[in-house]
Amino acid sequence: MNIHEHQAKEILKKYGAIVPAGFFSTSVDDLIEKAKNLKTEKYVLKAQIHAGGRGKAGGVKILNTLEELKNSANELLGKTLVTHQTGPEGREVKRLYVEESSNIEKEFYLSCLVDRASSKIAFISSDQGGMDIEEVASSNPEKIITTKVDIAEEISDADCESVIKIFDLKSDAKDQAISLIKSIYKMFISTDANMVEVNPLILTKEGKIVCLDAKVNFDSNALFRHPEILELRDLNEEDPTEIEASKHDLAYIKLDGSIGCMVNGAGLAMATMDIIKLYGKEPANFLDVGGGASKEKVSAAFKIILSDKNVKGILINIFGGIMRCDVLAQGVVDAAKEINISVPLVVRLAGTNFKEGKEILDNSGLKLISAENLDDAAKKIVEAIK
Ligand code: GDP
Ligand code: MN
Repeated sequence: MNIHEHQAKEILKKYGAIVPAGFFSTSVDDLIEKAKNLKTEKYVLKAQIHAGGRGKAGGVKILNTLEELKNSANELLGKTLVTHQTGPEGREVKRLYVEESSNIEKEFYLSCLVDRASSKIAFISSDQGGMDIEEVASSNPEKIITTKVDIAEEISDADCESVIKIFDLKSDAKDQAISLIKSIYKMFISTDANMVEVNPLILTKEGKIVCLDAKVNFDSNALFRHPEILELRDLNEEDPTEIEASKHDLAYIKLDGSIGCMVNGAGLAMATMDIIKLYGKEPANFLDVGGGASKEKVSAAFKIILSDKNVKGILINIFGGIMRCDVLAQGVVDAAKEINISVPLVVRLAGTNFKEGKEILDNSGLKLISAENLDDAAKKIVEAIK
């Protein structure tokens, strides 16, 4: 789960990091009222969307007066911001953040994430912070260093030193940076985060180490342990079909292709996506209906797949283990009663109760194409949508 910059900064602050004073609002009048209390020379206005690259897209503005702040806020609120991370459809700006301005001496890059390959926490740091870390990664990879840290209560001083070495800081600023790494590590472990990214992390002209931007992603599977973090979820920023899927406890991820996939088991879902690609098409989604799915759950999943306008055909690939093929079939038939299926449907059933499942589908009056196995199924659906 992602959160907004202003929420991420609040959490960072709680763990001891320095962030600029600021506040968020969803209305311009309220924003201006609150801005009057900020002790600052200039105001930094920032669009709050779950995507980076706002600076280059006009989503970050530095303003000299309250008048300017008001004009820019009016312009930005409700605007659809297109950044290199939003995709061409962009994101509507529904909340704004205002903070005191900082005098930047140097901009650094700092992030922390789970490194699955080594089962460690990796810190990534660079002295080339700011807006273009992807560019640095491809043209000057030696400017980015990775420090892998063993998972423990606390991070060692030696590890902190190696993370911040590339920043080349002196005395007091160096101590601040070390303390920041400790704060981020503590926050990362305590909140079950997947990623914390601070870009830019800055050294101010006054010698302070400040987090000027912040992005945090949490492990959704651990959110039950953190109700206060779950409250930060902003459904405006999520795909409506994914929200609907999460209500039914379905593992669903929307993708860009044209073949909707209804599968049980994450491994089988991955294999199904692979084989669709092998035959030259792209999956429209990842979907694992899970082991003991009810027909209601199956039906909800089927409706979610059909609600995606990019879906030109559906492949149902079920290997009945705990999941029974007849339950699956009934769920599909129930869903079809409520929404018209106007795209080709290929079905491959195997395992528990597959005969009963096939019978339900055969007697349903639905137009379907049966497949013998996974390979046959993929070939048939790709053929059917041509
Ligand atoms: P992003 O483009 O979505 O990653 O948004 P950021 O929060 O990183 O802001 C983009 C850029 O705006 C930063 O890299 C800074 O260079 C600049 N910026 C943000 N806040 C301030 C500030 O208080 N003072 C100055 N001088 N620049 C700022
Ligand atoms: Mn940034």
